[in-house]
Amino acid sequence: MIPVGFAYERPDAVEGALELLAEHGEDATVLAGGHSLLPVMKLRLGTPELIIDIGRLSELSYVRVEGDEVAIGAGTRHHAVETSDVVAAEVPLLAAVARTVGDPQVRHRGTLGGSLAHADPASDLPAAVLALGGTVVLRSLRGDRYVPITAFYTGVFSSVREPDELVVEVRVPRTGGAGWAYEKFTRRANDWAIVGVAVVDGRVGLVNMGSTPLRASATEAALAEGASIVDAAMLADRDTDPPADVAGTKEYRRHLARVFARRALTTAIVA
Ligand SMILES: Cc1cc2nc3c(=O)[nH]c(=O)nc-3n(C[C@H](O)[C@H](O)[C@H](O)COP(=O)(O)OP(=O)(O)OC[C@H]3O[C@@H](n4cnc5c(N)ncnc54)[C@H](O)[C@@H]3O)c2cc1C
Repeated sequence: MIPVGFAYERPDAVEGALELLAEHGEDATVLAGGHSLLPVMKLRLGTPELIIDIGRLSELSYVRVEGDEVAIGAGTRHHAVETSDVVAAEVPLLAAVARTVGDPQVRHRGTLGGSLAHADPASDLPAAVLALGGTVVLRSLRGDRYVPITAFYTGVFSSVREPDELVVEVRVPRTGGAGWAYEKFTRRANDWAIVGVAVVDGRVGLVNMGSTPLRASATEAALAEGASIVDAAMLADRDTDPPADVAGTKEYRRHLARVFARRALTTAIVA
């Protein structure tokens, strides 16, 4: 389908984007890589009056170490995350997860900020940032807000981001040599995860096991109390409410979460 008509603005700086967001609020939508927004618009699930294109704002594309954290600009493409030497050295889980997103074309267009802002529980990167204990930096003309990702998501495709706020940065702790793994189960290469499990330093993030990315808290607690990987992984689906769709039933996804938690934990802790 063809999207409904819309106005288009391409500011040449973040400040300009913030002014447009402040002026137009809920009538405006930010365009970054467009790889989630355009399908939504073509299906007419979204009909913004104004598109604010931030896709070419180079000031939003960077990866840098800042103290104990790595700061990544919201406009950084998945491919840049995947191939960054800094990410590989400091947060290798994130590079590995970025590498599993879609195909090369998607990874050259899609952005880390767009993936997090879109708030799709089937996306890979939000669960990885959740396992990492990251922070989403939101900016508006009112100032900056640092929102722990644990408090960012409120439901399917929804977050605490206000209409006048731009995601400008994602911050993740440097994990260095801590054990990590990402297990993504798909029926075909390049597909979205039916279920995904991200593990780093004993924390476990789940993809597609509820209305938001989730931490497998029962598994994490069991590990901390000395349970075996096998026993802890058996708790990975506790307090989850996975979707049922053509790719699998709720019970199938619960089973996958347990199996892939065991595999990811084994890789992260034993390998
Ligand atoms: C064929 C295909 C396969 C895919 N496979 C996968 C996959 O396997 N795994 C996966 O995780 N994803 C997958 N994706 C999604 C892809 O990763 C998207 O690029 C990503 O989800 C959104 O990033 P974007 O930069 O394209 O955002 P856009 O599509 O431009 O925007 C998405 C939403 O986020 C908002 N937004 C974007 N940037 C900001 C910002 N800085 N501040 C505030 N709001 C913002 C937009 O307004 C919009 O609502 C796939 C997409 C396609 C088309």
